[in-house]
Amino acid sequence: MAYLAELANTNPLVSTKVGGTSEEGRDIVQAIISSGLSANKPVHFFDCNIHAREWITAATCVWIIDQITTGYGSDPEITSLVDQYDWKFVPIANPDGYAYTWNTDRNWRKNRLVNNESTFVGVDANRNFPIGFAGSGSSSDPCSGTYHGIAAFSEREASALRDLIAADRGRVKTTISMHSYSQMFLSPYGYTTNLPAEYPEMFRAMNIAVNALTSTYGTPYTYGNTAVTIYIASGDTTDHYYESEGVDHSYTIELRDSGTYGFQLPPDQIVPTATETWNGLKAMINAI
Ligand SMILES: [Zn+2]
Repeated sequence: MAYLAELANTNPLVSTKVGGTSEEGRDIVQAIISSGLSANKPVHFFDCNIHAREWITAATCVWIIDQITTGYGSDPEITSLVDQYDWKFVPIANPDGYAYTWNTDRNWRKNRLVNNESTFVGVDANRNFPIGFAGSGSSSDPCSGTYHGIAAFSEREASALRDLIAADRGRVKTTISMHSYSQMFLSPYGYTTNLPAEYPEMFRAMNIAVNALTSTYGTPYTYGNTAVTIYIASGDTTDHYYESEGVDHSYTIELRDSGTYGFQLPPDQIVPTATETWNGLKAMINAI
């Protein structure tokens, strides 16, 4: 947050917006990178670290912010990508859970809502969106890591992302929800194995992204629709962005690794993970 505030103070491309506050009162901050904010350009929208323990996701988003802000004006591809689009990132979508992984439980996933009906804390904000809410791949049990909460958008963290993307309705070209781990590129739907009408175009874009990602260091990725490729997940961001907000290119990325270190990816893999992911995203966005 200090880094984003510093950027916003020193770099004319960068501003920040508070999308909402968490259950414990922390700001949910969106970093906006734009070379002409009033032009209402198409938007690339990122949410990162909605699952608290997935630290590589915030690191990757912050690294991409750094690449874009330092590359503008010197790297022709980045300059073009900034002049064509606005870039919006929520690096820490679940700040309470993230803080909890630093001070108490490294393996915490959910937010930190104190449930009235249970002694168990926390809702999975990525099961708290309305498409398929409370369906397969989410739990009605407050003890569960995938507890969906009492209603869609009951959680402040989900509501903040709802409001941030709704503010750009009609402009959002792609959404990327960053998760770890599994090395997968995932498209709608999560809540059903049915395929959306645009799936062939989604598959084309994911194929281009994964080819560029893998060609960087050889990291193998699989890709396809969420429900078949990883598991059924109801009420997630990616289905909401696609189905409710009409974003045709709405993806979840499961970053490194494939299970050796899992959520506790070693620091020496942060920059390689971010580098290959950014290469994949640039190729995909150029292809779209
Ligand atoms: Zn996740």
